[in-house]
Amino acid sequence: MRLETLRVDDILVSPDHYIDGARVDSEFSFELLSPIDQGLLGRIGEGGPEHVDSAIAAAQKAFPTWSRLTAAERLPYLNRFADEIGKRAEAFCRLECRDAGVLLSRMRHGVVPRAVLNIRWFAEAALTLQERSIETDQAVHRVRHDPAGVVVIITPWNAPLMLATWKLGPALAAGNTCILKPPEWAPLTCSLLADAAHAAGLPPGVLNVVQGGGSTVGARLVADPRIARVSFTGSVSTARLIAQAAGANLVPCSLELGGKSPFIVLEDADIDLAAATGALMYRNAGQVCLAGTRFLVHRSISDRFVASMRAVVEQLRVGDPQDESTEVGPIIHPRQVERVLGYIDRAVAGGAKLLWGGGRHPFGAQYLQPTMLAGVEQSDEIVQNEVFGPVLTLQTFASDEEAVELANGTDYGLGGVCYGEQAHATEVADQVRTGFIWINSFGIRDLAAPFGGIKRSGIGREGGNWSFDFFCDVKDVVLPKKPFRPSFSHR
Ligand code: NAD
Repeated sequence: MRLETLRVDDILVSPDHYIDGARVDSEFSFELLSPIDQGLLGRIGEGGPEHVDSAIAAAQKAFPTWSRLTAAERLPYLNRFADEIGKRAEAFCRLECRDAGVLLSRMRHGVVPRAVLNIRWFAEAALTLQERSIETDQAVHRVRHDPAGVVVIITPWNAPLMLATWKLGPALAAGNTCILKPPEWAPLTCSLLADAAHAAGLPPGVLNVVQGGGSTVGARLVADPRIARVSFTGSVSTARLIAQAAGANLVPCSLELGGKSPFIVLEDADIDLAAATGALMYRNAGQVCLAGTRFLVHRSISDRFVASMRAVVEQLRVGDPQDESTEVGPIIHPRQVERVLGYIDRAVAGGAKLLWGGGRHPFGAQYLQPTMLAGVEQSDEIVQNEVFGPVLTLQTFASDEEAVELANGTDYGLGGVCYGEQAHATEVADQVRTGFIWINSFGIRDLAAPFGGIKRSGIGREGGNWSFDFFCDVKDVVLPKKPFRPSFSHR
């Protein structure tokens, strides 16, 4: 069935899959609504088994030629891909604002420049991939990083463009061919990425995009024995299914999952700075995996901290993400709104005290008030589970040991924030069991640095060389320094 091209303002975007260098339509489709006002954006193709099959076949067919190019030969393709993303910058901004509810200002100043950089940076970094060699007395070990094959990339709705490019950059630069399965609640910018790849002249089959549901398209992709890697960002429950399916074929997975990260404020912290940073946890309406959502504040300063953060939060502008002055936008979907409200209601019924917020924001049904709950116990659901909305909890502590114990007292281990005198904060942060932690800061990300979580927050690291290690088969080519003498007694 031919689906109509979506028109968002004056931007045209294809509802179809992109397979083997061409748009491919679907018999079935699903409705796409905007989180801003639940308005219908259009219909998107729902992939069937035939789309999964042809996308994998196309990626397999493209692999020998793409993988045999040197990184230097792939560089111009990927730089053109980055250029084509840059040329469509405003379209990417408007589309993701409309289908995911991400602030237009954040798309313009953060996400789109970063998406361009994701492609460019890894394309450049791949040039030095083959230089990792080890020399000993006996031999030179040339450590090759050979592309693994067909890579499946599955992403969530809270950062579709950023996450797709963060994975496509290194996967393509290393010489793999890719199949991207976009999030069904926010698929538009991934469709536009296919246009950018096409305009850049990426050979057919190098990048394929199959739209559709997780339990249908996603599940089929990850269970296929022809694939070589799965890079997944999303929830813990989905990760378990993916790991099982890929595990059956012994296909390695990189799993970047949820978080319930601590935001620690020590007694020697700059309280106002910590409070201003704390308010950033409402960014993207709290739909951010790496946000520090559990505030752990030293008892002696907690009243002053709460007063300072309240003053900042009262000034936050909740509203339409298309308005450049908005700071907190909508929740992605009515189902997610109900889920978040359910967490708040159960916490309050269980004895938690609302310090601010607690319900819908008058701006609209999809908008929630920035919320802070105190009087919670470590074992409470609201402290243990990822809410993925603008809901934070506050606990106090009397010693560093207690802060560390509370910080480590969940099944998650993604990130963290620690405010305090630098040496003191560093000492405490070193004891927090997470994949990363920011000292007196938040959200500093560098493409060369590793990113990922421990415990339920994930398996593996992406970023810098960690991405290449995952997307490549590492091979040791051993060149002896002296003539080798065959001997049975040689170790
Ligand atoms: P989700 O797990 O429901 O979906 C993520 C993706 O997986 C979607 O594209 C979905 O279609 C697909 N999927 C669903 N079931 C599948 C299956 N059986 N097989 C294959 N694919 C399947 O997550 P979500 O609700 O879209 O996103 C929110 C979650 O993502 C939160 O837990 C958040 O913390 C996490 N997240 C983590 C990071 C990180 O880097 N650690 C970043 C952003 C979001």
